[in-house]
Formats: sequence, structure tokens, C-alpha cells
Amino acid sequence: VRKVPVKKKETRIELALPVSVRDLSERLGVSASDIIRRLMLEHQIRANINQHLDKEVVELLGIQYGVEIIFREPKSAGEMLKELTPPDRPEDLKPRPPVVTLLGHVDHGKTSILDRIRHTSVAATEDGGITQAIGAWQISHKGRTLTFIDTPGHEAFTAMRARGAQVTDVVILVVAADDGVMAQTEEAISHARAAGVPIVVALNKMDKPEASPMRVLQQLASHGLNPEEWGGQVGCVRLSALTGQGIDDLIERVLLEAELLELKANPERRANGAVLEARMEEGRGVVATVIVRNGTLKNGDIMVCGPAYGHVRSMLTDRGEEIDSTGPSTPVAVSGPDIVPEAGDTFAVVEDLDVARNIAQMQRGRLEQERRRPRTHVTLENLYESLAAGQERHLRMILKADVQGSIEPLAESLKGVGTDEVSLRILHQGVGSVNVSDVLLADASDAIILAFRVGVEDRARTLAKDRGVDIRHYRVIYDAAQAVKDALEGLLEPELKEEKVGVSEVRQVFKISHVGSVAGCYVREGQVRRGGRVRVLRSGVVVHEGAVASLRRGKNDVREVD
Ligand code: GDP
Repeated sequence: VRKVPVKKKETRIELALPVSVRDLSERLGVSASDIIRRLMLEHQIRANINQHLDKEVVELLGIQYGVEIIFREPKSAGEMLKELTPPDRPEDLKPRPPVVTLLGHVDHGKTSILDRIRHTSVAATEDGGITQAIGAWQISHKGRTLTFIDTPGHEAFTAMRARGAQVTDVVILVVAADDGVMAQTEEAISHARAAGVPIVVALNKMDKPEASPMRVLQQLASHGLNPEEWGGQVGCVRLSALTGQGIDDLIERVLLEAELLELKANPERRANGAVLEARMEEGRGVVATVIVRNGTLKNGDIMVCGPAYGHVRSMLTDRGEEIDSTGPSTPVAVSGPDIVPEAGDTFAVVEDLDVARNIAQMQRGRLEQERRRPRTHVTLENLYESLAAGQERHLRMILKADVQGSIEPLAESLKGVGTDEVSLRILHQGVGSVNVSDVLLADASDAIILAFRVGVEDRARTLAKDRGVDIRHYRVIYDAAQAVKDALEGLLEPELKEEKVGVSEVRQVFKISHVGSVAGCYVREGQVRRGGRVRVLRSGVVVHEGAVASLRRGKNDVREVD
């Protein structure tokens, strides 16, 4: 037990909960052992020095020690960390390397480009060190450093952002020159835009005879990415991951983009950053790959890492080297946190182990609460309240529709209902069912999803429920626009909530005279009820909506079928 310095006694103190015996002893200027004795004798509480005390007990102790205690609003862990990390002075800021993530459609060559960049640089270095799988790595190019995140793809990118950790400075959008802009390319563009991260385009697979870069540039331009060579802002680099041609140009172009961003950090301060991945390792305990955003991380530092905390016991680089300290934009595998944090948790170094423990405990408490209480996002129903409370000035939306031809008129009529006070921003629009990427984007950006004559993929539905993302279904443009207008004016009728009760598959359709078409179904999940509302989907597109008029199993009329 640390010896507690005895301070001059004050008659009135301010405290914020939680308060430990040690905190109280320091603030009251009495010894901790005295408090512990009093707690035991007068309150029948056996406490140790780190134990947190209830508000009533603290109040009583205050009275007994003749000190008036005023309780301040408890600070959130975020606020506490913010106070511990004051802003940097401009003169302390030094350039830092850019952190780069590759996004793009599947099979367009993200992994191949990453491999090519990594191997070119590894071969070029003397030691030719084998890179370790720690989730991110650095290369040096003509004396300048770049950091690459190893998990390509917009879902991982946005999942991190949803957890409050945006580490990417520049996105490389990979488009295969023979294939062009595809659905996931469009998603990637929207995700990078919603995050406000600049894009450099990699026109990959230029070695293929079918490569048609001009067509791709045209497609990119029609998505608002105007190529530099046509007088726009977006760098588009032709390359081939297969031959390696153009890889250097790509790196140069990314470095140029980074220069324009004037990325800076203060290496002289205590570090903060984000967790890329974490796991339990035999012999090393918890190992978290973190990327330092600001400051310098040193061995022995005390870090809070999401709900985890602890001393930095050792640090390994992407080359597997043990190091003592590391600066901004560098990824390192840190061992030392007491429990396994999650990808996307933020970390910060603090001065005092007690402070670290306190903040970590608060984060654990918050996580517990979040697990119990569903997350909330903007919904059409709560929109008016959030507007009235002055929390919202924009309504962000993601539009998914059955055909391209529906999207533009839908987007236009939605924008038309925006008012002077509230503007409508469409973060992403696309053809097809609502998918996981849409829900992640809505979660990270607090947006509503509008499904126009399309269904929702199963995983997306579960995720949306989990994250409290509102998905609305419409079949008529006018209805969609009217609902948004009503929501803006606080006039929205409470909607009939959609609850999925079952899924069945149409195996055969019979035509019966005087009755019409009858669908022979196989119930795959849940049940089908007579009178229940149904949506008939064909390849993810809504072909009919209505109610179950009658239901038979074998020859018998029944109420429901499981
Ligand atoms: P990812 O899904 O975006 O990570 O794509 P991959 O890197 O896995 O590449 C998908 C396929 O395209 C693989 O078969 C690669 O060998 C191939 N590929 C990638 N880059 C090139 C290229 O520049 N030229 C050619 N011809 N094939 C490539």
C-alpha cells in the first residue's frame, strides 16, 4: 500500500463518482487506513484501498470528517481521456506517414497489389526481413514512409469507423481495367466519401489485352470521381499487380495526396491511436496491434485500450523486431493489456495506473450497458425529436432499389423534401438487396436505409436490429418522399413495425380456375400465417406484396404452418 500524503484539510470539496477509498483519502487529507477502519467499525463495510464507494457512504464519511462534499456530474471515459490529451501546439507538429487502405470490388486485385508493394519493398531492404502478420506494415519509398492496413475492403474500413477509430488517411480504390466499376466499387466510393477520406484510383490488370482504361475513367467520372488527366482532382494510376508495372507510380501518387493533406502529429507527447486487431497469445498474453495516431508509445507506458488497460510490456514491429518506442502512424504489436480489446477500440497513454484502471472500468461498464440496452440511431420516427433537440441538421440516407431506373427519380424526389433547416444527404445509392455493407455504413454514419422494392439480406437484417439501424420499405416513390416529409415535420404516423415471422420458398405455382395462382411452398424458417403480410422476392427483388389469403396443408385449411 502506497503511503498517502496528508494534505491540509479543506472544508468543502468537489468529487466526481466513482470514488475509491484512495481518492477520498487524498481529497479529504486523512489516511486511507483511517477511512478503512471507520468503514468497518461504523458502516460494517470491509473495503480495500482501491474499492469504489457508494455515494451515500461518501456523503456520510464527509459529514464525519467535517467536510462538505459536492458531487460533480460523473465524466464519461471519453471526456476523461479528452482532458488528459490536450491539443497540440502547431509548433510541435511534425510530418507523419500516411496510413493507406485498399478498397474495391472482389477479385479486382487488392490483395495482389498489397503483396506486390510489400515484396518490392522487402526485397529492396538489406535485411529482407520477413514481415509479420500484425495487421499493418510500413514501407519506405525514396526515403519516405507509408503505412498500409492489411485488411482490404470497405466493410472492415467502415466497421472500424463505426467504433470511432478512423485511421485511414488515403484510400486506394482498386478497379480492374478489364472489368470496370462494379457494385462493390460503388460501395467503396460511398464508404470512402462518407468518411471524408481522399481517393487515389489504381487501374489494375493493365497487362490484360481486354483492359479498357478509358471506359473505366468514364465510369469513374460518372460517379463523381473526375480523373486528373481530364482536368479533375482524382489521381488515376494505370498498373499491373501481375507484372509490377506502375506500382511505383501508385506509391508516388499516394505520397502526393498525403502531402496535400499535410498530415502531422506531435511525437513529443504521450501516445494515442487505435486497435487494429487483438488476440490472446500463448506465452505473451494479450497482444494488440495498434496504430499510433499521435505521440510516441514507449515500453513501460500505461495505456487504456478500450475496456483494457495495462503497462506496455513489449512491442514488436511488422518485421518482428523488438523496439522500445515508436512514433506516429506506426503499427506495433503491443503486449500488456489485461484483457483482449476489440478492433476499432481507441487507446491512449495516461500517467497514472489508477486513472487507467478507472477509465477502463468505466468503459467496461459502458459496454455492459450497451449490451443490455439496444443502440439507437436516427430513425424516421425519432427524427423530429432529434431535430427539435438541435442534434441533427442533416438526414443521411442510403437508397437501395430494384433497378437503376428507380434510383435517380427516387433520389431526386427525396432531395426535394429537404427544408432550409434540414438537408437530405444520400450517402450511397445502389441496385440490389440491402446488404451488410449498407448497414455498416448506416451504423458508422447514423443514416436511414430506404429499401425500394428490394429485400434485406439475412445477415444485414440481424446486424441492423443489433445496431438499431432503421430500414424502411417502399414500393412507390411518392410514398417514400411523403414519409420522409412527414417525419421532418413530426407528422409521421407510427409505422406498422415489420417483424419477420418466417421464410418460405415457392416450389411450384398452380393455376386454379376461379381462384387464381396458388403457390406451393416449403417453410424454411419460422411459420406462415393466414392473413399474414408477405413480400415475394425473386433474386432479391420484390415482385409482389400482399397478404396470405388462404393457407392449406395437404387438403386441410389451416391457420398457420411451421
Ligand atoms: P482481391 O479480391 O481484390 O483481393 O483480388 P486478388 O488480389 O485476390 O486478385 C484476384 C485475381 O486477379 C487473382 O487471380 C489475381 O492473380 C488476379 N490479378 C490481380 N492483379 C492482376 C493483374 O494486374 N493482372 C492480371 N492479369 N491478373 C491479376
